[in-house]
Amino acid sequence: MMPGTPNIDLHTHSTASDGHLTPAQLVHTASDAGVGVLSLTDHDTMDGIEAAQVAANEKALTLIPGVEISVTWSKRTLHIVGLGVDPAEPALANGLEQLQEIRRERAQQIGKKLENLGVANAHTRTEQAANGGQITRTHFARLLIEDNKCQTMQQCFKRYLRPGKPGYAGAEWAGLHTAIEWIQAAGGVAVLAHPLAYGMTAAWRSRMLKAFTEAGGDALEVHCGNSKPADVQLSAKAASEFNLLGSVGSDFHSPEQRWLKLGRTLKLPEAIAPVWSHPRLQSYIKPT
Ligand code: AMP
Ligand code: MN
Ligand code: MN
Ligand code: MN
Repeated sequence: MMPGTPNIDLHTHSTASDGHLTPAQLVHTASDAGVGVLSLTDHDTMDGIEAAQVAANEKALTLIPGVEISVTWSKRTLHIVGLGVDPAEPALANGLEQLQEIRRERAQQIGKKLENLGVANAHTRTEQAANGGQITRTHFARLLIEDNKCQTMQQCFKRYLRPGKPGYAGAEWAGLHTAIEWIQAAGGVAVLAHPLAYGMTAAWRSRMLKAFTEAGGDALEVHCGNSKPADVQLSAKAASEFNLLGSVGSDFHSPEQRWLKLGRTLKLPEAIAPVWSHPRLQSYIKPT
């Protein structure tokens, strides 16, 4: 990291989607943990940004308005993070509304499946838990734990919520080009999130990176969550090969994830140009 660069975390979640903390709690927790520049990147919504901005103004913390967009590419789901996006820009705002409708329909389908598997009132209870935020599979996983159907989140996904499992319902999310267009039209920078988390072979990963780059994508998450040094190296190599900037983000969801703390220094290898050097993000790093 460049000397003088503050502690940066460009991928986090709040109760606007599947995070445990409200946007204000997230900002306070991040600030207390030493984060200087934070992006809130909820799944397919920017509803938490306003409250996060109010909280950030009270703290010495710079908020980069963000979003994590669900994308369907080659029958697979990818996550594209938009950084520095204006939530009022119509193409993005309309696009997110479409995805929210898809989420509502899918939640009903998943709810029905889980009800058939003996989880009483799965859909209604999940709606209550989400409390107006976007419903994700994380919410259903929490319900399965509550009903003792499984013990850990990992187990719930493995047994019930992954493709091919009895509680899974697929969805046709945004197209890759479309998501990148929404982000860039809204003044932002498009980042391919957690490239090693899609269960892809190296060949598929290469295809994904090529498609993302050709679609005009800007950056690759090089250090995400608790990436191991070898993962960072592998992603850095991919960023170099495809001439992408590098991003860093914890993908923080909850203080219950004891292995994933806010405020941990997320390092980019020096050879990788950081996404915050992008002209569109300069104003956040060096306030004018
Ligand atoms: P959705 O976008 O509704 O399909 O939900 C995806 C979310 O589920 C991700 O953002 C993660 O927060 C969570 N998730 C996916 N796989 C796992 C897993 N194996 N363990 C815990 N959480 C997971
Ligand atoms: Mn999530
Ligand atoms: Mn993700
Ligand atoms: Mn995420």
